[in-house]
Amino acid sequence: MSMNAGTLFIVATPIGNRSDITERAIEVLSTVDLIAAEDTRHSKSLLQFFNITTALVAYHDHNEEVRTPQLIEKIMQGQNIALISDAGTPLVSDPGYRLVKAAHELNIRVSPIPGACAAIAALSVAGVPTDRYRFEGFPPVKMVARQACFESMVKESATLIFYESCHRIKASLADMVATFGDHRVAVLAREITKSFETIRKATLSELLRLVSEDDNQRKGEFVIIIQGADQESQQSLVEMDVDRLLGIMLDELPVKQASELVAKITGIKKNQVYKKALQIKATD
Ligand code: SAM
Repeated sequence: MSMNAGTLFIVATPIGNRSDITERAIEVLSTVDLIAAEDTRHSKSLLQFFNITTALVAYHDHNEEVRTPQLIEKIMQGQNIALISDAGTPLVSDPGYRLVKAAHELNIRVSPIPGACAAIAALSVAGVPTDRYRFEGFPPVKMVARQACFESMVKESATLIFYESCHRIKASLADMVATFGDHRVAVLAREITKSFETIRKATLSELLRLVSEDDNQRKGEFVIIIQGADQESQQSLVEMDVDRLLGIMLDELPVKQASELVAKITGIKKNQVYKKALQIKATD
């Protein structure tokens, strides 16, 4: 560690309910030399609420390039600095990466003050497997890119976690239904820790119906959790498709030709499909 340098603290703040701030967060924010905040006006009201009078400086996506070396210089001179974002854990879909990276490069101590994070709070109540999950943050804003993004994850077996805003919640859910299918199990976690907190576990199409039919369900902030692809049921879907397709094709085509076509469509090996076709023919 750099000998006389201060520490960079990465401090989580509440995602709605102010009582979720930790004692350590209050202590660190009260005693550091400077707080770098995503939006100083927003953070001022939180800090005032806890009687924290530490000076604030803005640190956001648009000034992090110039601000990072300034903050690093202060830490190298011995100052302790805390980074906070508007809500939750900094760097999780929030600014801070450049600053933390620069601190590591100079051997500055970086210390986390853990607390609220919407993704983890939602995951903890989702009731879907949590042994493996993939945090994806905000999906792309434009429809084509968003659908391509979802398409690339259809076979992912880990639980998927997305953030979404009220402006795009309906469009994103509609694209999820179109790509992951009507029946994929998902969880909508809205306004976590706030007055209108809603946690709903259902199929994607039911969640889309919920936000389409009730204006209130489109208000606020959202985490969408999608249960990972179930390999076994995917396999049995493919098998079901093979039987159905072969049934149709064998009515019109000879065994060999029908098998070749079905193998091409499903991606299953030709000889496997051929065997199945012979079985179907034998029971006809
Ligand atoms: N760093 C934050 C964290 O640790 O969760 C996330 C910041 S990101 C800019 C804001 C997004 O997080 C929102 O659009 C929403 O998707 C999600 N989010 C934040 N607070 C939330 C809450 N109380 N309920 C549901 N989602 C929330």
